[in-house]
Amino acid sequence: MNILFVTSEAFPLIKTGGLADVSGALPKVVRTLPQYSGSIRLLIPGYNPVLAKLKNAHEIAKVTVLGQQCSLVLGTMPDSDLAVIAVQNTFLYERNGGPYNDAQGHDWLDNPLRFAILSRVASILASTNSPLPDWKPDLVHCNDWQTGLTPAYMKLVDHSPAKSILSIHNLAFQGNCHPGWLHTLGLPEESFQINGLEYYGQISFLKAGVFYADKLSTVSPTYAKEIQTEAFGFGMQGLLKSRADDLIGILNGIDANEWSPEKDIHISKHFSKSNLAGKKVIKANLQEHLGLHIDANAPILGVVSRLTYQKGLDLLPSIMPELVQAGCQFAILGSGEKGLESAFNDMAQRFPSRVSVTNGYHEHLSHNIMAGTDMFIMPSRFEPCGLNQLYGLAYGTPPIVTRTGGLADSVCDTNELSLKHHTATGFVLENVSEMSLLVTIQRALSVWKDQPTWKKIQINGMKQDLSWETRAISYLSLYNNTLEQ
Ligand code: ADP
Repeated sequence: MNILFVTSEAFPLIKTGGLADVSGALPKVVRTLPQYSGSIRLLIPGYNPVLAKLKNAHEIAKVTVLGQQCSLVLGTMPDSDLAVIAVQNTFLYERNGGPYNDAQGHDWLDNPLRFAILSRVASILASTNSPLPDWKPDLVHCNDWQTGLTPAYMKLVDHSPAKSILSIHNLAFQGNCHPGWLHTLGLPEESFQINGLEYYGQISFLKAGVFYADKLSTVSPTYAKEIQTEAFGFGMQGLLKSRADDLIGILNGIDANEWSPEKDIHISKHFSKSNLAGKKVIKANLQEHLGLHIDANAPILGVVSRLTYQKGLDLLPSIMPELVQAGCQFAILGSGEKGLESAFNDMAQRFPSRVSVTNGYHEHLSHNIMAGTDMFIMPSRFEPCGLNQLYGLAYGTPPIVTRTGGLADSVCDTNELSLKHHTATGFVLENVSEMSLLVTIQRALSVWKDQPTWKKIQINGMKQDLSWETRAISYLSLYNNTLEQ
């Protein structure tokens, strides 16, 4: 079974969020499963960092796609021999800025074309007209809106014999554009209808994938159910419900080579569930590095996140003074909505030795916050899976979360019963409100004061099987089911 894994980001080539972590780990692990035979290739746009980091990169074909000349560059990942095909086109992908937006955070205006080309290349590689006669995928695994047109091109344009799966990592991002793009994107007129890729008068890349893919998956069982409801379905709940039999939720794992307190290259001391001593050293280093008062007895609450409405972190600034008063410190890393950034920055100015705020994207600091803080805050309004709460579990940093999506599937609230059954791993809010967040943090703080009980919660979390190996087996059976369909 040959698989083409199509993605717009993959760690360590390029990363803006959880999709990169999944794309960097899942294909790498599937190919090592004893039950799997075949080969996997990852397809990704040739952004500058991708071209710079690919090992043994060389051109294997030239294709003209939607009027644009592209080179297909084959190489391998910097940290494994997973094969990667980069779609190289200087004008489309080799820009200063992020994969989706410019340095000011504005979406690239030609995103429909940039990601339609990625999608169409995937479809061509899975067609009988592929320029790579020696390697053909039996299955194309697409991820999020950026690859959503692939199943449409496969069915409607290239009449591909291969099957397709679309994984939804976040339904909130849909890649919608004006119907005027239809011809430029090479999509047939008849596809622009409710039983097709039309979404409230626009072209929707994501809806195209949801409609035309043979199978659908999302990144947690709870989110798979939630997106079939009005509250979480972004208007696609009807279609998703009609495809319920083809939709499965598989919780993400974590890449133990990158995220393990026993071998993390970013942290100054390693630790494990049988010896947590190193965590205290990292905490002290973190306090020093961030300019926080060095105090082992002050609980540090960590945040590493995009600062957007989804993440619910707007609930935090107004309750911070009370928590600082109670002795807490904060280590916050993230960027996003300017109003929220400045609300956090105001807190850092007001309480300089208690609140540290770092705006921007810092891989190294994110590992040290996960390892060196005492609790991790993630009050998301919706969360398809969420990775940081999984990192928190692995690093003995109990997460404080809302009961939604992957958070509900991965964190077990601490109470008498869950403590007794050794299942308590964190703290779950009753609802998404400032009061509920405050009360839940206060509840966590009172348990923190009882360090032997706290340690039990840490160890329960660190014992969880969060490995990709288990998840990869679920994906493999999804792949098999899709081929048998
Ligand atoms: P999402 O993909 O919705 O942003 P996830 O929790 O699924 O959220 O994944 C976020 C990933 O991005 C995690 O690996 C997290 O550590 C990382 N991340 C988010 N913001 C930052 C940041 N400012 N600096 C470093 N890493 C970040």
